[in-house]
Amino acid sequence: MSELPSEYHRNLPYGERLSAAELVGHPFFPFEGDVQVVPLAEPVIPEPPRRGEPGGEPCGTCAAPDRLVIWRDDQWQLKSFDERGLPFVALLEPREHYRLDNLPPELTATLGVLIQRVAGAIGRLDAVGRTHFNRWGDGSEHFHLWFMARPLGMMQLRGAMIAAWDDLLPNVPSEKHAENAQLVAAALAEGGGEAV
Ligand SMILES: [Zn+2]
Repeated sequence: MSELPSEYHRNLPYGERLSAAELVGHPFFPFEGDVQVVPLAEPVIPEPPRRGEPGGEPCGTCAAPDRLVIWRDDQWQLKSFDERGLPFVALLEPREHYRLDNLPPELTATLGVLIQRVAGAIGRLDAVGRTHFNRWGDGSEHFHLWFMARPLGMMQLRGAMIAAWDDLLPNVPSEKHAENAQLVAAALAEGGGEAV
């Protein structure tokens, strides 16, 4: 990397292993013992295209618009995923291909309402204590919000490491996932749209 783009970047120790001490022992961190941090990689600029961007792979959502969808209205759809360790994991995305920065006003206006409705619908599952949601968007250009259900009472799963716990915990059985997906879709449909 010949030209680093900012002072922030110039101050980082590329190739070195940073200390894990800040995390090991933290109540939300799922690992203990001699944890080794991977060497810090140099930035890749320009960044490689995400799915759906020019030069990238095709948008998976637009290529298979009905795949995994459990609920939709005329603007939004909710997908849910089998073979996850958390009680429920879902994606909220517009039915049309938009990024966050070009999401039209009629969609930004309903996004907040949908976040509340999806979190509430997932929260009705008996296993769920709280529903986290996040936008990362580093894999696909098509705007999507992740919803991750934290199991009731499991306080180790608070915070951002819930995504790691999703990989660590044993998978919810497929039949149970299907049952949960039906319940969430039906709960959402009470406020509009249709369960799929
Ligand atoms: Zn798309």
